[in-house]
Amino acid sequence: IERTLSIIKPDATRRNLTGKINAKFEDAGLRIVAQKRIHLSPAQAGQFYVVHKDRPFYGELVEFMASEPVVVQVLEGENAIAKNREVMGATNPAQADAGTIRKDFALSVGENSVHGSDAPETAKEEIAFFFSGLELV
Ligand code: ATP
Ligand code: MG
Repeated sequence: IERTLSIIKPDATRRNLTGKINAKFEDAGLRIVAQKRIHLSPAQAGQFYVVHKDRPFYGELVEFMASEPVVVQVLEGENAIAKNREVMGATNPAQADAGTIRKDFALSVGENSVHGSDAPETAKEEIAFFFSGLELV
């Protein structure tokens, strides 16, 4: 059984889409084992996305992620990392498959409603970034 870190981004929390997005996770067999609403500071958002710091969209991405609250969550299931990315769909909603979160809800390649860890090592790091051991059962 695997765990992955998911973020419901400001464009989605603002439009009250948390429940609809969570329903897609649960329908795909992913269990929400931890979840909280937080408002990232620009410094925290910048640290979370530091891997992208040399990309042209970094400043815009950090500003967006710190603009309004997000919902951070840990999803658990068989192949949770890959399954979550399948449910999320392609980064650019114009390229996302039908029925995916980004196809149904994302506004643009930047405001694309969700984040999901991309590998076991990053999942571990990203979960530890947001959740303490006491918050995870
Ligand atoms: P995430 O890491 O959020 O799960 P991803 O792995 O599909 O998404 P990455 O390439 O890691 O995509 O990019 C991280 C995030 O940066 C994207 O989700 C998106 O919000 C933003 N982003 C990526 N490419 C662009 C772009 N060309 N213009 C604006 N924002 C972008
Ligand atoms: Mg990524």
